[in-house]
Order: sequence, then structure tokens, then C-alpha cells
Amino acid sequence: MLVTALPAPTTVAYEAVIGLEVHAQLRTRTKIFCGCPTDFGAAANAHVCPVCLGLPGALPVLNAEAVQMAVRAGLATGCEVQARSVFARKNYFYPDLPKGYQISQADQPVCVAGHLDIGDACRLDINDGASGAPRRIGITRIHLEEDAGKSVHGEGGVHASFINLNRAGVPLIEIVSEPDLRTSEEAVTYLRELRAILVYLGVCDGNLDQGSFRCDANVSVRPVGQQRLGTRCEIKNMNSFRSVRDAIDYEIARQTALCRVGERIAQQTRLWNQELARTEPMRSKEESHDYRYFPDPDLLPLRIDEAVFRALAATLPELPAQKRTRLQRDLGLSAAVAATLCEEPQRVDRFEAALGTNPDPKQASALAHFLMAQVAGALNRMEQRSWDDVAAAMPELLTLCERWRSGGLSNKMLAEVLQQAFLSENPLPDALLAAMAQAGSVVRDEGAVQAAVDQVLAAHPKELQRYRGGQTQALGFFIGQVMRRLAGKGDAALVTDVLKRRLDG
Ligand code: ADP
Ligand code: MG
Ligand code: ZN
Repeated sequence: MLVTALPAPTTVAYEAVIGLEVHAQLRTRTKIFCGCPTDFGAAANAHVCPVCLGLPGALPVLNAEAVQMAVRAGLATGCEVQARSVFARKNYFYPDLPKGYQISQADQPVCVAGHLDIGDACRLDINDGASGAPRRIGITRIHLEEDAGKSVHGEGGVHASFINLNRAGVPLIEIVSEPDLRTSEEAVTYLRELRAILVYLGVCDGNLDQGSFRCDANVSVRPVGQQRLGTRCEIKNMNSFRSVRDAIDYEIARQTALCRVGERIAQQTRLWNQELARTEPMRSKEESHDYRYFPDPDLLPLRIDEAVFRALAATLPELPAQKRTRLQRDLGLSAAVAATLCEEPQRVDRFEAALGTNPDPKQASALAHFLMAQVAGALNRMEQRSWDDVAAAMPELLTLCERWRSGGLSNKMLAEVLQQAFLSENPLPDALLAAMAQAGSVVRDEGAVQAAVDQVLAAHPKELQRYRGGQTQALGFFIGQVMRRLAGKGDAALVTDVLKRRLDG
């Protein structure tokens, strides 16, 4: 009998290839080609003029501040700044594009050939194999362009579409990466790092919700070992790091499954559908635009002198990677703590300011955790508040932190104090701080606390009325007053408790 051995079934392993295109809104005061303000949240179409409305005969004038910001972004990401770059017209029709073209840089961008390192010593989960060396992700180009307006559908229940052109002409930089990323984790790490760099530079506010930092992801798969790139799909419409990660993972799985059964990937633009957690086709390559680029005849080529970019290079601040290294080296912060702390530039600013010029490593580590947990938590509970608002309470942060750690301040009271500090935009109440600074035995005698509370409420009828009228943030004020009467020795939890009972009762 003849037995033929069948070849063992093989499963080809696939790897993903990812390239990212990031649009970052520049924090200039005025638009890129006119003097209209760029502030977010103004009344619809309040910030428009003949230039950004695209009226015939209106001439664009390039905003020097936008150029400086683009150059600084390039310098911070190791780019070659081009002595000469050119603005082109990218032609397409869309309701929110009044001119019928977008002014953008095409084949001659302002910066090229940069890179961004991810997975440095702080992120050991992402690095080059066992070596622990960072992964260097190429940046193909950074170019300047103007943003389009915004279509709003069915606002106020009206069955109609509206166009808001406040955003039309706001300066953007587009940062295009090489297809060097391999996993969604790497992609998100790259984005976080890029965002932190731009925020540190002060060129972008990094706000994903408001669309100041947005990303399109190009994803393809190929058999491991193959050099040639597979056919890519471009995913749009992701407005959080979470959705970037999920969309890329979904797309890798989708494409890999198709390849395994021998199907070809169609080159497409796809949209991320957050509710259904999947990508959906938006348009295919055949439907894609022919933009008919040509140099904008109204704008001269942009020339940047050697001296100008040298001067700009001198304005670069300490960048996130440098700051992480320094905080680990000088303050003994762990890699993970340094990485998380530095992700929010304002937060690490507050941290360094609170520590002062002669920081103590023990205090530093405690304060870092305090900022990332307690203060971040208090911020999260309050809408419309950001790390900028923490500035008010800054020098006291360390006192607060130590007081809380030593048990002299309950979690509940700490939360109240922080909320009070953020809301009032004033320093923490003096009396409270003085009280906290005082060492000594804690008053746990409920009778004494009640007496102090009664005196305070009797002495401040107006505040009491306000509190009962719904202004509950006055609680912090009362706590401060009671603490003062108790010479700073009241048990924080007890004081809060008795006060609340009296106030609400
Ligand atoms: P376009 O402007 O048409 O979107 P680009 O050539 O400028 O095209 O590429 C855009 C992005 O797509 C870049 O970030 C690039 O790295 C990435 N990219 C290009 N080819 C692939 C591919 N086969 N797989 C994954 N990403 C890719
Ligand atoms: Mg693209
Ligand atoms: Zn304008």
C-alpha cells in the first residue's frame, strides 16, 4: 500500500504595517492667511472675513507665527527644515470649503526626514526586542495648511444643515509618519509622545475632544518576512487614543482574516464606528479625489533663512524624553511614574513648581502619586477644569499632600479642599493652610467641634444663606473657619462631618 504523506498545514504569520497622519491645530492668535481670531467656542461665523470666506479678490497673507510654530515642531522631531517650501491649492468641492480649494503644502513641505523615538527606558513594553533600545519611527514630512469649516447637521432639532466657518483658515500642521509602526500599542505610544512634544512646545493645545489633535491611521498587513508593503486602508474619524487603538486592532484582524482565505484587500478609506466598534468603508480608491494640486499664485514660496531657524532652535524647551530622563535620574522617580507624569505637560509643571528649587526625592515620589491619583481624580470630577486651574493651589500642593499622607486629612476632606481651590481660582483658604501647617494633637472631641461650628455659622449668616441656596462650594470656606477656631487642630473628617450635618440639617 502506498502512503503519501500530506504536507503539514501551515499557517502563515502576518504582521501589521501602520503609518499615521496627524493634524495638529496651531495655537496662533490669528488664522493662517488672515487676521481673524482662532478662539474655540465663539458664536457661529463670528470669526470670518473676505479672505477665509473665499470671496473673489481677497488676498491671503501668510502668518509668521504659524511658520515659526511649524519650524519648531520640525526641530523638536529631528526634521530637516527646508530653506524653501511652497503653498499649493488642493482642489475639491465641499460645503465647508468656501474657496473650492484648500491651501496646503504638497511636494515641497516645510520640514522633512525627521523621527520620533518611542519605547525609551521609560516604556520597556515597547522597544527593539531584548535590547531595550528605543524604536525610531520615521517622520516623512511636516507641512503647513489651513483647516476647513464645519458642517453641523440637524442642530436644535431643525431639519437642515448649517455651516460654521470659524475654523476655516485656522492653521494646521500635518505630521506624516513613515510606515514604521507595527502594533496599535506602538501607534498610541507614538501619538502620546507626539502630542506631548507639541504641547510642551506650546504650538498645540493637544485637545482631542475639540479636534485640535486628530489622527488618520493607514493600516496594511503582510506575511512576516515579506518586504513589499501590502495594500493599505486609511481609517478616519477616531477622536480618542482608545478609539485609535481599537480601530487599528479591528482593521488588522479584518485584513488578516481576508488574507488567510486568499482574498485581496481593496484600497479604501474607512470610518471608525464607535458604537458598533468596527471600521466601515467610506470610499474606495476609484472614488478618491484628484486634487489637481498647483502652486498658489497668490502666495510666494516660503523662504526660511538660516539665521531664523537658528534663532527658533534656541527657543526649544526641555522635551518630554529629556524631562523623563532627568526626573528619573535626579529625583529617583520610577520609569512608569515619570512616563505618566510627563504625559500632561501642565501636570509636570505643577509638580516641579510645587517641589521648588531643592526637591527632596522622597517628597517627589509622594507628590507625583498624589498628583496622578488624588488631584487628577478631583479634576476629573469637575468638568471644564484643567491642569491650568491647579496653578492657584500650587505652592500648597506639597503641604496638602503631606498632610493627607500623614492622616491629618481624610480623602473626603481632601477632595473638598481641592474642589474649593479649583473653583475659587484663588489660593487655598489661608486659615485652612495655616491650620494644616500646625503640628500638634488633633481635636477629636465632638462637643468642641460642634461649638466651633456653631460659632462659625452664627458669625457668617450670609455665607450660610448662600450655601443653603445651593452654593455648596462654600463648604471649603466653613471648614477653613472652623479649623481656625480650633487652632488648626480639628480632626478633618470630624469637622467636615459635623459641618455638613449642621449645614444640611
Ligand atoms: P496619502 O497622502 O494618499 O494618504 P501618503 O503616501 O502620503 O498617502 O501616505 C500616507 C500615510 O500612509 C503615511 O503615514 C505612510 O507611512 C502610510 N502608508 C503608506 N503606505 C502604507 C502601507 N502599505 N501600509 C501602511 N501604511 C502605509
Ligand atoms: Mg492620507
Ligand atoms: Zn478671516
